[in-house]
Amino acid sequence: MSFFKLIDKGPGIKRLFVGGVHGKEGFSTIKALKRIQSSDVETGRLIIYNCDQSKYISTLDSNYYQSKMGKEILRLINYYQPEMYVETHCYHHKSYEKLIDPQREEISGVPPLIELEKGVLIGSVSPYLRTSSFKREDVCLTLEMPCITNNDCSYPENKCQNPEESLDIYLKILKILADSNNRSELETKISKYYPQQVKTARHYAREFFGEYPPF
Ligand SMILES: [Zn+2]
Repeated sequence: MSFFKLIDKGPGIKRLFVGGVHGKEGFSTIKALKRIQSSDVETGRLIIYNCDQSKYISTLDSNYYQSKMGKEILRLINYYQPEMYVETHCYHHKSYEKLIDPQREEISGVPPLIELEKGVLIGSVSPYLRTSSFKREDVCLTLEMPCITNNDCSYPENKCQNPEESLDIYLKILKILADSNNRSELETKISKYYPQQVKTARHYAREFFGEYPPF
């Protein structure tokens, strides 16, 4: 399941996409990450890394970055110094409501994730990581989709998504990211499909991070 790929298209920004950062998520995220091809990047570099299975510790828990996997993520960030950092996650259907809950900030200390389409959610990375390892102008985001493996869809039935459809949307966003060179280009491209969601992301970022940009 461990997977590494470096796409080098010369000068430009450095992007780092990391999947499977905890638990068994890597079994699902690799299905999208493996489908990103060299032709999806026009300029700059893209480093893709999918982690092996590890103990599940939430990335919102500061202990995560003391764990073996957390330290590995920090090493990757320190080594490549990406200007764009994307964490790809997956969730069990029963966590859906919790992730998009408007009260998430009171409950978990972070803004809710925003649904783009078909159960694919977008948001910022762990505040600990955002503020300690990146510059303000860097692009940092989390993408979530329903897990493909071991995702018994019996609850809540009406929120169950077709996993292939979710995966297609997830991959579409990853390809937009792989081919974006800065924040404004990225926002313009995503706004074309999801204008309302980008507005909401800006709003949450302003409330939560103050001067920090939405992703
Ligand atoms: Zn996760």
